[in-house]
Amino acid sequence: MNVNFAIFLILFLPLISCSQAQIKNRPIILIDAGHDQNSSGAIGYNGVSEVVYNDEMAKMIKDEAQNKKLCFDIQLTREKGTLPYEKINELKKNYPEYFRPESLSENEISLSTSLRYRSALADSLDAQLLISIHHDSVSPQFLKTNLVLLNGKLVIAYTATTQFYEKYHSGQTILVSSKLNTNIFPKNNEQLSAEKYSKSLVFAKLVGEKMLHNSPSEKEKRLPSNYHLDDYLYQGRTYSDIDKSLGIIDGQEEIGILISSKTPALIIELGLMTDPKDLEFVRSNAFRKEFIKNLLTSIQEYLRTDEKCLPSL
Ligand SMILES: [Zn+2]
Repeated sequence: MNVNFAIFLILFLPLISCSQAQIKNRPIILIDAGHDQNSSGAIGYNGVSEVVYNDEMAKMIKDEAQNKKLCFDIQLTREKGTLPYEKINELKKNYPEYFRPESLSENEISLSTSLRYRSALADSLDAQLLISIHHDSVSPQFLKTNLVLLNGKLVIAYTATTQFYEKYHSGQTILVSSKLNTNIFPKNNEQLSAEKYSKSLVFAKLVGEKMLHNSPSEKEKRLPSNYHLDDYLYQGRTYSDIDKSLGIIDGQEEIGILISSKTPALIIELGLMTDPKDLEFVRSNAFRKEFIKNLLTSIQEYLRTDEKCLPSL
């Protein structure tokens, strides 16, 4: 071996492997655009499906994170509405317990696969957080339908009724869960769910506080939504309030994506698709920019509480 080359190896190899290890160990945050091409979510006052806006926001979060010097990596569960079937099949083979059928109908299996895939992916990546982005609707009793023109076609659209506004207001909601799916995690279920719940809640509060206090403009400052609990009770579900001032709700056993991973998980409902004013507000550049800043700052703070994102990284 050439002496100079040997000196080079001694001096620089540790540095090379160290930096590679750091890159490999960068914490991963998995951002999920809610829904997919088979189940496109809520329909807004303008006839547009929720999945479109969820996708836009997820991509913007990833792009913004890439432009900034952050100590974590953002990955997306999927791009532009389409489920990555190859990746799903790979995960089904390597993590069968996440996809075990539990007397579901054909439709339910397809929906369940789509949700379980997101959870299996988060755990397979050893992600620090699974954050699912959504835009909300309200229960049918508070919706009126009308036809609108969308891309040259007449489509059905939904708008919240005056009875809704008499009782409630629009705003963001953050959902976490204190439960874990016992079919996927039969062992240590209570301990696992307690750990996951407490981490999910730490992050939910960080981001909830920022969304409440760092609004794009004082004039447009809005409170978290207040319709969820009644809405879900109407649907016969068993949700409970955690923090009304921040709009944080415990979805308990009801939401697949929140109970199917070890990874701390939450859903952020950005605003109400069926309220024209609220949807246009959350689609505005000012809101999107502010929300992404709030989200990325919260992630950074969350990781520091766990020493996974120290300034030296
Ligand atoms: Zn949704």
